[in-house]
Amino acid sequence: MDIGILSFLKKSSRAELRIAAEAKARGHKVKMLKHNLCSLTFDGKGKIGFQYGKSKFKKPDLIIPRPNLHNSIHTRMAVIEQLELMGIPLLNSHSSILRAKSKLKTLQILSHYNIPVVKTMVLNGPGYIQEAVEFIGNFPIIIKTIFGSQGQGVAIVESDRSVKSTYGLLEKSVGGNNVLLLQEYIAEADGKDVRLFVVGGEVIAAMERVAKDGDFRSNVGQGGNAVEYKPTEEEVHLAIRAAKAMNLEIAGVDIIKTKHGPAIMEVNANPGFTALEPATGVNIAGAIIEYAERFVHEYVPTENI
Ligand code: ADP
Repeated sequence: MDIGILSFLKKSSRAELRIAAEAKARGHKVKMLKHNLCSLTFDGKGKIGFQYGKSKFKKPDLIIPRPNLHNSIHTRMAVIEQLELMGIPLLNSHSSILRAKSKLKTLQILSHYNIPVVKTMVLNGPGYIQEAVEFIGNFPIIIKTIFGSQGQGVAIVESDRSVKSTYGLLEKSVGGNNVLLLQEYIAEADGKDVRLFVVGGEVIAAMERVAKDGDFRSNVGQGGNAVEYKPTEEEVHLAIRAAKAMNLEIAGVDIIKTKHGPAIMEVNANPGFTALEPATGVNIAGAIIEYAERFVHEYVPTENI
């Protein structure tokens, strides 16, 4: 089939190139699509056009969007949504990406399905910081932006004295959007968390990430170290339920071990796997393509905008 890989980066990432290579190895044609070449046109009579660069867009059989949504979220999501409205199967769908992108939406959905998450209070400005500190109970406290990724936009606050200033700094870093999360710090996790990679409702690989000395964030991009991990049955079950609740076909589910049991830290709609493949020896890109082949056959186009 013709597979499009929709990239939001100037230069294709290593994960995007791995997916392309595996797709070609399985006999598919691949087109690397760049989001900045996609344009939408509205003729005023109900006809929506989609152009790619200067040429007319030839619809692939499937697109794998690799959304990197640090800025221009609305325009970028509109492109993804339009492709779906044109009847192209997407891995992942527009609505599931949008859900996962927001840590607030993720908490809302997972909690709705009784999936354990970390105790959190959402603040719409600094007015209720004291209430949030009381709700969480004790220091340290974690403060996060809702759209952060790779450990950027996450801070730890050790005392009452620094909570307001850290809040102010993070709030400033996200410009107009001043919604922040204050969260219980899971000290017993000891700088570790586990990432379970879910494809089509199955956990295909897992790794444990360990924060580098002096940091609490385990993200590989922040210097964390990744090693293969054998998840417990409970963790596997939780990751599958979380991906399903978020409606994600491909998901990187981050689980933190709390004293009350595993809790979901984050569900990633665009999970990288360049640390996971060498750590586990699993061909993640190949598994994505293999699933894409099945997905296309069973796909029912979405009708809703
Ligand atoms: P991002 O989306 O930027 O990766 P996360 O919320 O996943 O943000 O946080 C980044 C890392 O910081 C996590 O992988 C984890 O190691 C650490 N961390 C985040 N929240 C907590 C918490 N409440 N308690 C302990 N560690 C945390």
